[in-house]
Amino acid sequence: MKKHNFYAGPSILSEYTIRNTAEAVLNFAGTGLSLLEVSHRGKEFVAVNDEARALVKELLDVPDTHEVVFLGGGASMQFCMAPYNLLEKKASYLDTGTWSSKAIKEAKLFGEVVVVASSKDKNYTYIPKDYAVAPDSEYFHITTNNTIYGTQIKNIPQVGVPLVADMSSDIFSRPVDVSKYNLIYAGAQKNLAPAGVTIAIVRKDALGKVSRPLPSMINYQTHIDNDSMFNTPPVLPIFSALQTLKWYKEQGGIPVLQKKNEEKAAILYDEIDRNRLFRGTTAVEDRSLMNVCYVMNDEYRDLEEPFSEYAKKQGIVGIKGHRSVGGFRASLYNAMPISSVEVLVEAMKSFEKSI
Ligand SMILES: *Cc1c(COP(=O)(O)O)cnc(C)c1O
Repeated sequence: MKKHNFYAGPSILSEYTIRNTAEAVLNFAGTGLSLLEVSHRGKEFVAVNDEARALVKELLDVPDTHEVVFLGGGASMQFCMAPYNLLEKKASYLDTGTWSSKAIKEAKLFGEVVVVASSKDKNYTYIPKDYAVAPDSEYFHITTNNTIYGTQIKNIPQVGVPLVADMSSDIFSRPVDVSKYNLIYAGAQKNLAPAGVTIAIVRKDALGKVSRPLPSMINYQTHIDNDSMFNTPPVLPIFSALQTLKWYKEQGGIPVLQKKNEEKAAILYDEIDRNRLFRGTTAVEDRSLMNVCYVMNDEYRDLEEPFSEYAKKQGIVGIKGHRSVGGFRASLYNAMPISSVEVLVEAMKSFEKSI
């Protein structure tokens, strides 16, 4: 039976990515060797690494002021690496969920951190909008999409200081004006590749300004200077990332993906709003196009388990909500076909009829 994969991360990848990765694991670039057993400094893998970095630049229109590197350690490593490299005295952060809170905690190790606003008062169900960012902040950190709570920043704030953004769960889902950012980072396992590689897009002239000594591996400059090959990179996730990036380009790039993402999210949110059994958990204007969080209306709460079972029978996988929200979360990343969203919507409709 066909499975419809709504997991939040690691999550759905295109069939193109998975097939080409599987093939390269058996025979990489005609070498007769597995991708898993060749030197990362061999010309075949160097070509993969270079092409993947070039495609990130092309798809996101990365200006020459910025460089793209692939790092290990996940997005969580960036919570400390960003302030380590960029925070000398003071930075401002927007607290919109679990991941922002973790970023804030790490940044406090390096300097003064001003939390300009937080939506914790309402269990992170909205994006705060009325706040001011102190002009002497070295950067303003945002989490563009809140994977756990299902909110997304729709209008990137113009605050007069450079931005730093965790885009782990919505990078490549919509266009981005990279010139506004000193740093964009994203773990791969939501919208790009298997876990193990993190993309960092760094503004080069923002580096070298902090007075503390930086260990080589923590210093973005090290990775830039070595064409993202300072040490052994995560070769398999980078190979997979390249396949996904090619697949994105083939479809027409980010604007086309954005349009598909808008369509997919619209049909699911429309059904949540229409169906008497369900309701969305977040402020309507802040609804994420990537992670759709919803619960059963109070009078139907005891139907949560039966609906999960029912959905499972239609091949729907991974819709259980995060423990801090409950209910359901359907993640609609780039690789999710509209047909799978239609299967979920159909299941919600037919389950409602059966009640
Ligand atoms: C998943 C996620 C993270 C954590 O990523 P790791 O690679 O597990 O460290 C951080 N931020 C956001 C927005 C995420 O979705």
